[in-house]
Amino acid sequence: MGIPQEKLELRPLGKTGLKLSCVGFGASPLGNVFGPVSQTDAIAAVREAFRLGINFFDTSPYYGGTLSEKMLGITLKALGVPRNEYIVSTKCGRYIDGFDFSAERVTKSIDESLARLQLDYVDILQCHDIEFGSLDQIVNETIPALKKLKEAGKIRFIGITGLPLGIFTYVLDRVPPGTVDVILSYCHYSINDSTLEDLLPYLKSKGVGVISASPLAMGLLTENGPPEWHPASPELKSTCQAAAAYCKEKGKNISKLAMQYSLSNKNISSVLVGMNSVKQVEDNVGAATELAHFGKDQQTLSEVEAILQPVKNQTWPSGIQQS
Ligand code: NAD
Repeated sequence: MGIPQEKLELRPLGKTGLKLSCVGFGASPLGNVFGPVSQTDAIAAVREAFRLGINFFDTSPYYGGTLSEKMLGITLKALGVPRNEYIVSTKCGRYIDGFDFSAERVTKSIDESLARLQLDYVDILQCHDIEFGSLDQIVNETIPALKKLKEAGKIRFIGITGLPLGIFTYVLDRVPPGTVDVILSYCHYSINDSTLEDLLPYLKSKGVGVISASPLAMGLLTENGPPEWHPASPELKSTCQAAAAYCKEKGKNISKLAMQYSLSNKNISSVLVGMNSVKQVEDNVGAATELAHFGKDQQTLSEVEAILQPVKNQTWPSGIQQS
């Protein structure tokens, strides 16, 4: 398209001092969560991401039952770049065999993650999907355990993740300022659901960095559609597929539109998108570069928003509480 090749925009992450690429590499697909991925393809995708300026890589022991962490470790090692040139986040408390946010488990978990990732430390360790645990345990036991890991130099910053937005205010209102550095929200800043927006001023007032994951709504906003396990209602799935088909008919791409929608809000430090191929990396970085030069495709966006209006902000239940 004749767009100049330049490094991706970096954005500050709350008060951490970290600067994250505005497009982040979600490594759950490297755990075969969206279908099988070969080691060769994984290495090529991560290499291309780094080449195009992506410096932020997110994984979890849960993704693919530790496979994503192992694959990310192998790929980062294959890159052979200095450790301070990339930022890695992983998670604790959610595993293939269930949830355990106890101090003992998360303390053991980081050592296992570091071994799989072949790293001495991770930049961010996040309590994974805390709505499935006791939020009071997160406040009183898990986060204090993570503070000890910070002091031990195994992690640099502490985060929490999950779907219902109320979990973030619950925890942040109960921990001393500066304890939780980052929140990771998902599926709440996409064209079909933008409810995270209302929380951004609060998060800013708390000095917390914001990562917004799943800009493609975990596959809803793609031409191929979501995986089998996707928790959306049949109505939400079919309406998103109608929007994708509408874009395709117009010669547009719903995923590009969705990336640009999420990237437009600069209070979000990084838009974390799951990728498993060189092509997806190039398309998503290309969406960011094009946005920086030409702005959003407002006309197509308005048309797609009209199609999605009947399901706007529709979500699904997650966890054992909806606080
Ligand atoms: P996503 O919305 O990023 O969608 C990923 C899907 O879209 C995959 O099938 C991917 O192959 C495909 N895709 C990517 N780019 C595409 C393009 N340009 N065109 C067409 N298809 C494309 O959903 P996600 O992967 O679930 O979320 C991103 C990342 O955020 C995850 O990998 C994970 O690291 C993180 N995340 C964390 C949590 C949590 O902590 N609870 C939850 C969800 C996601």
